[in-house]
Amino acid sequence: MEIIKSNKQNDKICLDGHMYTLYYETSETIKWRCSKKSSVRCPAVLSTDKQITEYEKIHRHNHLPNRKEVMVTKALMNMKEKSSTTTTNLVEIFANGVSKLDKSAKAQMPSEDTVKRTLRNHRSKGNPIDPKSLEDCIIPHTWTINSDGHRFLLNDNGIVDENGKCKADERIVIFATDEGLLILLSLQLG
Ligand SMILES: [Zn+2]
Repeated sequence: MEIIKSNKQNDKICLDGHMYTLYYETSETIKWRCSKKSSVRCPAVLSTDKQITEYEKIHRHNHLPNRKEVMVTKALMNMKEKSSTTTTNLVEIFANGVSKLDKSAKAQMPSEDTVKRTLRNHRSKGNPIDPKSLEDCIIPHTWTINSDGHRFLLNDNGIVDENGKCKADERIVIFATDEGLLILLSLQLG
């Protein structure tokens, strides 16, 4: 029995080529239902203790196990994790994830474009919305500093009035680290 961690609602349990998702909890057990519950109406349920160490199978699956599908799901979860916790480009994340799969598992992988689209959506979840106009382009404070808490936004001429609307016709935004500026200053020009 193996648990693929995501957020709790989306945690998956892999067991003997089948996957289970959270169904409901009782005071002593957690019930997990087959991930094919809605697609093929599989009645299989897995009952585990709260620590997810012991399990009991309830009802049989009405379909064959698919270990390759489990491998693909694990690879996809891994890619999602990487895309939201690193800035590695998606082509590389995809290539890395796929390289660990054998040939027949690769064949069950969704297309590269589909996966990259999913990863892109996943990655942009924590990002501000893409501005449609200058007025939408409001830079939240967390995006004006770097991970050390030092300033990153040096200048933004977007004047925001009391209604949160930007008055500038042309927007000039300058991002740089102080460290980067010092390197720039030290350069011999000419
Ligand atoms: Zn099933």
